[in-house]
Amino acid sequence: MIIVMAGNATEEQIQGVIRKIEKEGFKAHLSRGVERTIIGIIGDERRLKEVALGVLPGVEEVIPILQPYKMASRSFRADRTLVRLNGDIEIGGERIHVMAGPCAVESREQLLAAAERVKAAGATILRGGAFKPRTSPYSFQGLGEEGLKILAEARERFGLKIVTEAMNIHTLPLVAEYADIVQIGTRNMQNFDLLKELGKISKPVLLKRGLSATVEEWLMAAEYVLASGNLNVILCERGIRSFETYTRNTLDLSAVPVVKHLSHLPVVVDPSHGIGRWKFVAPMCCAAIAAGADGLLVEVHPNPAEALCDGAQSLTPENFTVMMEDLRKIAAVLGRKL
Ligand code: PEP
Ligand code: MN
Repeated sequence: MIIVMAGNATEEQIQGVIRKIEKEGFKAHLSRGVERTIIGIIGDERRLKEVALGVLPGVEEVIPILQPYKMASRSFRADRTLVRLNGDIEIGGERIHVMAGPCAVESREQLLAAAERVKAAGATILRGGAFKPRTSPYSFQGLGEEGLKILAEARERFGLKIVTEAMNIHTLPLVAEYADIVQIGTRNMQNFDLLKELGKISKPVLLKRGLSATVEEWLMAAEYVLASGNLNVILCERGIRSFETYTRNTLDLSAVPVVKHLSHLPVVVDPSHGIGRWKFVAPMCCAAIAAGADGLLVEVHPNPAEALCDGAQSLTPENFTVMMEDLRKIAAVLGRKL
């Protein structure tokens, strides 16, 4: 349930509503927008019906939230969420941020080469997995903490932020120590223990859509993180399973406007995993921006033919640089920056 305060409600009236909510044993979430102030109520909705909040001074309207997700819902917040990384980067605002780099950190040399090239082309965030969820137990599993140290070195050297995946609750504290954004992979979207733990860290979370998750299931997964105490969630569309086998997955770009309609959270798109073939990554990056994405996650490898993971979908630094030029033009047409 949300309480919409009247435009002329005083601070005392706002605090009065919050006191009442807390006295009834609920949590209140205050959101001050440019035009209106909203107070979200977190707790068992059924019991709330007995509390006459509509009569409190300064209250304009009491609206039930009909969707099963509450804190992720568009009605819960007056404005769109801006996820801030340490320093100057804000995801969800006018600027579209490109997160680029190899699928996995393979060596210091490989990652630093990738970082230098993606930075030069205009990426602001470096991607690279140190803990890799691989379909086969015989495939390269990542360098672990050594990979995180290499990412941290690249961050210092090139002034990039880093996004890297946490696969389970045991290694989450370690990953969160190094990462600027903790990535939760498609296979873990419904790892509820992990989602609850993410609520306890303050680092932003990039929550990938499960490979067969509906939009509602995805938003419910985000709700776990939000309700556990971490409001810095970025959603990432990365393709879903369909009957089509020519591409690795089916990149569901319709999810971008749909999720932006349903939720206040920023949405980024990962065409690399969505398509699985490097040739089609650039057109789908263009389409993602046209659809309203707040950012992109793109695999770039200094030498895709030698990649230990996802080489077929990785752009060369040259192709990435050319693509960034096109993306800049599309962003400008839409009144955004890149
Ligand atoms: C990745 O980003 O390298 C990755 C493993 O992604 P996903 O979880 O979307 O498959
Ligand atoms: Mn990958």
